[in-house]
Amino acid sequence: MDISIKTVSESGLSKVDFDKLEFGKIPTDHMFMANYKNGQWINSSLLPFQPFSLSPFALGLHYGQTVFEGMKAFSMQDGSVSIFRLNQHHKRFNRSLERMCMPPVPEELFFESLKSFVKLEKAWVPKANGSSLYIRPFMFASEAKLGVKISEEYVYSIVASPVQSYYSDPLKVKVEDRFARAVEGGTGYAKCGGNYGGAFYPTMLAKQRGFDQVLWTDGRQHKYIEESGTMNVMFVIDGTLVTPELTTSVLDGVTRNSMLKLATDMNIPIETRRISVDELETHLLEERLSEAFGAGTAAVVTPIKEITIRDQSYSVPVKEEAIMFRLKQRLADIRAGKDRDIFNWNTVIQ
Ligand SMILES: *Cc1c(COP(=O)(O)O)cnc(C)c1O
Repeated sequence: MDISIKTVSESGLSKVDFDKLEFGKIPTDHMFMANYKNGQWINSSLLPFQPFSLSPFALGLHYGQTVFEGMKAFSMQDGSVSIFRLNQHHKRFNRSLERMCMPPVPEELFFESLKSFVKLEKAWVPKANGSSLYIRPFMFASEAKLGVKISEEYVYSIVASPVQSYYSDPLKVKVEDRFARAVEGGTGYAKCGGNYGGAFYPTMLAKQRGFDQVLWTDGRQHKYIEESGTMNVMFVIDGTLVTPELTTSVLDGVTRNSMLKLATDMNIPIETRRISVDELETHLLEERLSEAFGAGTAAVVTPIKEITIRDQSYSVPVKEEAIMFRLKQRLADIRAGKDRDIFNWNTVIQ
């Protein structure tokens, strides 16, 4: 596979204050771009970060054929750089693309674009503990046509931004019993832009009432727990790590998947199953729920300190020795090359 390369004359790296990084604000020097046209991928290139040139008729702007991934590259203790779970992100990207009627990105294109991009931007991968390069592969419909149709042309691109390790303050969440993020049979399992657009309004209303996030429930009956904001949700009930099972309305998080695998390796029992709001409330009343947290690439683990069910608020402990923090640490150690990569999750860039 040929990737043409045009580099910047001067890197913006020296102007970046790595102690004060706002999430997703500063782009690295370069981007990757390829076009899909006449059934083929063409023009693979690494080029200076720049605006797209796009027709106002571009189908993606009107009918929502847009899909993205969120992944990370880490500095390892031996000075090399690794991309976390490249394969898993590729599979999910293609599952999302299929749901949105967009062409798959072949393995070679996905792997080579990411590896060559990260290699070029290696100096942008922060070295401080827990910090990383947040990478955003994405794709959108670019064919210029106002009529409603499946686009025949697409842009696949990769951009990235250095991010600090951040400990997010524990959240107050509200069990959502009116709005839905996704429904069974819908696009909830796809990482497509529209899912986010549709989630903003209920989240904004919850924030106006003093909550940090909503805890989404199934869109039909609002009876079963699905996700928290843009993260998968996990609970520790009687010492067991419990998380909702995957359905078409739950996103298959790479962090969720990694946590479940690590928990099993650490002899922590796991259960993936339906969790009803009523069951959750019973556990909260009986104080059998010892942890609740969101799991996602951005913050890895976000503790939940309060859950509100139908106007009744329950507090959840957030303890330093919690299972969620042990899992987070183990994950960090594997990514940094301090612990053995027993699941082959790291793609090391030479
Ligand atoms: C991306 C995402 C997650 C978390 O997935 P990770 O792969 O762990 O980052 C969870 N829920 C939604 C809705 C998401 O978009």
